Amino acid sequence: MALIVQKYGGTSVANTERIRAVAERVVSIAKEGNQVIVVVSAMAGETDKFVGFANEITDSPDEREMDLLLSSGERVTSALMAMAIQKRGQKSMSFTGRQVGIMTDSSHTKAMIEEIEASRLRTALDEGKVPVVAGFQGINEFQDVTTLGRGGSDTTAVAIAAALKADACEIYTDVEGVYTADPRIVPDARKMDRISYDEMLEMASLGAKVLHGRAVEFAKKYDVPLVVRSSFNQAPGTLVTKEDGVMEKIVVTGVTHDKNQARITIMGVPDRPGIAAAIFNAISEANINVDMIVQNISNVDHATDISFTVSRADGNRAYDIIQKVSNQMGTKGVDMNTNVAKVSIVGVGMQSHFGVAAEMFEVLAKNEINIMMISTSEIKISCVVDDHETEKAVKVLHDTFALAKQ
Ligand code: ADP
Ligand code: ASP
Ligand code: MG
Repeated sequence: MALIVQKYGGTSVANTERIRAVAERVVSIAKEGNQVIVVVSAMAGETDKFVGFANEITDSPDEREMDLLLSSGERVTSALMAMAIQKRGQKSMSFTGRQVGIMTDSSHTKAMIEEIEASRLRTALDEGKVPVVAGFQGINEFQDVTTLGRGGSDTTAVAIAAALKADACEIYTDVEGVYTADPRIVPDARKMDRISYDEMLEMASLGAKVLHGRAVEFAKKYDVPLVVRSSFNQAPGTLVTKEDGVMEKIVVTGVTHDKNQARITIMGVPDRPGIAAAIFNAISEANINVDMIVQNISNVDHATDISFTVSRADGNRAYDIIQKVSNQMGTKGVDMNTNVAKVSIVGVGMQSHFGVAAEMFEVLAKNEINIMMISTSEIKISCVVDDHETEKAVKVLHDTFALAKQ
């Protein structure tokens, strides 16, 4: 008897008809003699709808209140799914994050799971029930509801699979697996049969929405066999697993893009020790993640420009903070550009190949796409470009590195 954790995303449970179809799938796996834990997302569009309501009331919603609001979408789906499973003659019970003991830190709207006290899940399984867990949420030490960041239901599923040492964790979504680029932008993108944890981690953190980055981190750390597949058919999907020799031979595995970016530039910053620390301390105290940073060499008057990127949602807050810091420092001003996007190429094989970066820059140049910032690691190269050029950049990079279907 295997223990399988299955997570169904928003499109997979978008309406009651879809919920019934998923319930049927779940029951057939259970009837084969497996123990199944289901993790569900909010019905498609629900979380965005709640964000919209909050923004109609205030442009700076309190993050604690935001979490209680956003967590409600998943609760709705979990109860409906349990009913649909029961209707098929299979015992089932829904649970919120709190009820299955998902403990997180207190960073509201992007909380990290610290521990799962899964005794209620174990009891439900022992009683022959299919537990249905509301994804994306937990509680902090004050018993307040937290959420795990957009797309976080994937992380709920993998964390539960790790805590209960499940035999498999399956992420069901609206595409057949992980592709060489977003199949909605690149129609000839190829579905991969396998991808390494590290490449998937990079792709997720660089914008490939198909898996939540934290979910991949958990899977890697606890060796959870992770499969991404479609809830709309029986195709086998993509296995996310340890790196092997074959994977290393492929130079570029995928192209990703992320439009959720804002670039802030501080002009004429005095060039003296402690300046960068002052700027980035202020940002990190506000719990804002900084991604790329570029500092120019100082010019004749010992001043320099510093640019960095943050997620677009954090842009206004970061801008206000930097404005204050830069007034104290006596800079020449601050500028924010929210029309930027990040395009990246990812591949473990890049570590042992030269010239990949040059090829990337050259193809972007040939297509008249201006690069505003660059960052590299052993297995990825990212460029910030004008967001109107995103689709074009992704397509030409996908072509250049020969990633399309044969
Ligand atoms: P779910 O609601 O099931 O969690 P998401 O919308 O979060 O689904 O993620 C699935 C979407 O991710 C796909 O519809 C696809 O457009 C997008 N996507 C982006 N990059 C990739 C990629 N490299 N491979 C597959 N899907 C991708
Ligand atoms: N409903 C949440 C979101 O839309 C979490 C999830 O679907 O994973 O981001
Ligand atoms: Mg998702």
